[in-house]
Amino acid sequence: MDPDQSHQSQQLAGRTALVTGGGSGIGRAVAGRLAADGAHVIVLDRNEASARQVASEIGGEHLVADLGDRDAIDALGLGTEVRADILVNNAGLQHVAPIEDFDPDTFALIHRVMLQAPFLLARGLLPGMYAGGWGRIVNISSAHGHRASAYKVAYVSAKHGLEGLSKVIALEGAVRGVTSNTVCPGYVRTPLVEAQIADQATTHGIAEEDVLRDVMLARAAVKRLIEPDEVAGLVAFLCGPGTGSITGTSHLMDGGWTAS
Ligand code: NAP
Repeated sequence: MDPDQSHQSQQLAGRTALVTGGGSGIGRAVAGRLAADGAHVIVLDRNEASARQVASEIGGEHLVADLGDRDAIDALGLGTEVRADILVNNAGLQHVAPIEDFDPDTFALIHRVMLQAPFLLARGLLPGMYAGGWGRIVNISSAHGHRASAYKVAYVSAKHGLEGLSKVIALEGAVRGVTSNTVCPGYVRTPLVEAQIADQATTHGIAEEDVLRDVMLARAAVKRLIEPDEVAGLVAFLCGPGTGSITGTSHLMDGGWTAS
C-alpha cells in the first residue's frame, strides 16, 4: 500500500467495498487504495491473520471465508449481514501442469474460487446495489482472460469465464446504476507470481532466474513486473466519479503483451 495515498480525495466516502483475497498481493493493494479514497472496506480472505492485519491497517473490517466452499459463502449473509456497493472479485490461485496430469479436483477448486464465487457474491450483493441505484463490480481477470498459456488450463478457462460473467452483470445492471468491468493485468509482483516462478522452472525444465525473462515477460513489451498499486489505481478509477458509462469492458494492464 502506498503511504502517499493519504492525501487523495475522498471520492468513495460513504461507499462500502468488499474485496476478496484482500489479505495479500493485489487485493491488499486494492483494499488500501479504496480505503484511502474514503470507502469503508471489508477485507475478505480465507487467511484470518492477513485479513485482520490488512483491515486494521486501513481502518476497515475483515471477514473470513473459503471461497471454494459454497456453504461458507452462503453463511456470510450476503445482502443482510454483509452489504456492499462495491465488489472487487480478486481472490485467486494458480496451478501449473499439463492437461493429462492436471488433477480434476484442483481444476474444480480453481473454478469454484475464481468463477463460481464471483457469481455467488454478485448474486448476493446486487439486490442491495439495485436498491441504492448504484454499484460497482470490478472483476480481477488477467491477460489470461484473453490469451492462453500452456499448462494453465483451469486458470485460463476460469478467467475467460469471468470475462463472460462480468459482461452479463453489466447488461443486467446497466439500468439500475451498476457497472461491471474486468481488470486484466500481466504479471504482477505478488506472492502468487513468486510461487509460479518455481512451478514454471520445474515444468519448463529451466532455472528459476530464467523464468521471468524467458517465459513470463517473453511476450510483454514492458519488461518488468507490474506493481500491485498500479492495478489498485485502475480499480479505484473504475469505482470513481464519471464512470457510469464504462461497463462490460475489459481493461488490459499487461505491458503490451496482448498487443503483439
Ligand atoms: P495472492 O497474493 O496469492 O493473493 C490471493 C489472495 O486470495 C490470497 O490472500 C489468498 O489467500 C486468497 N485466496 C485464495 N484462495 C482463496 C479461497 N479459496 N478463499 C478465499 N481467499 C482465497 O495473489 P495475487 O497475485 O494478488 O492475485 C490476485 C488476483 O489477481 C487473482 O485473481 C489472480 O488471478 C489475479 N492476477 C494476478 C496476476 C499476478 O501476476 N499476480 C496477474 C493477473 C491476474 P491465501 O494467502 O490463504 O492463499
